[in-house]
Amino acid sequence: MSTVTKQLRKAARVILIGAPGVGKGTQSERLLARFPQLASISSGDLLRENVRRRTPLGLEAEAAIQSGELVPDSMILNLISNDMKSKGWLLPKSESPVQSSASLSSSSPAGIPSPAHSVDASASFILDGFPRTAAQATSLDELVPVNFVVHLITPPSVILARIASRWVHEPSGRVYNTDFHPPKVQGKDDVTGEALTQREDDSLETWTQRLKKFEETSQALLEHYDRRRCLFRVEGDSSDEISPKLFAEFERRFC
Ligand code: AMP
Repeated sequence: MSTVTKQLRKAARVILIGAPGVGKGTQSERLLARFPQLASISSGDLLRENVRRRTPLGLEAEAAIQSGELVPDSMILNLISNDMKSKGWLLPKSESPVQSSASLSSSSPAGIPSPAHSVDASASFILDGFPRTAAQATSLDELVPVNFVVHLITPPSVILARIASRWVHEPSGRVYNTDFHPPKVQGKDDVTGEALTQREDDSLETWTQRLKKFEETSQALLEHYDRRRCLFRVEGDSSDEISPKLFAEFERRFC
């Protein structure tokens, strides 16, 4: 991928939605590299940081995180709003909804009242891990309206084929793919020459289940953003096929 960077003319508030294996992490990294004003806000990272610092919220969330359960919506919302306030992107509640400068807005495009948020290009972000449900999306709308929701689409058959050709060197975590990143010697790690294996959780059944679960749980979220007219669908068989289309649309909207 090229290292060209682009300036934003207004705030981009972005969510990527995509099935497991579709390359959400890759697209997110590429967007962050191309548009340096974008920051990544990860609900999981914010939670883990609170757990590490033993904050009251961290202590409350710890058990849920360890058992893989979702933590209460109000908790995540607090975390995200505090993070954005500390960056100066949201006015504290007592000051809102006063518009103290031309770069602050107090209503979303859909007309939903929200605390004043900065519309300056420096207040641009990609949310990672949030919202996970339509209920979380509704709460987020009230805090700060997202204005670009990307649905990354790769046919399930392509994702499954990609997984089936994935081999790992377990001791080091090095990952190979027999289609587009094969080891120099078939079945052997490039560095140690040791045998490559396939992960048990990379089985076809596990992945078929994961994809099915995503289809079920993402539906309401996608409909939510479709109704708010900020959903953009982009399809491709690989990350390299998707990125140029995503960049073009991103630039059309924000540069
Ligand atoms: P992640 O790093 O996104 O996989 O998140 C790690 C853990 O943090 C999840 O298993 C949940 O317990 C919690 N978490 C992260 N994001 C959310 C969210 N949007 N809603 C509820 N719980 C979350």
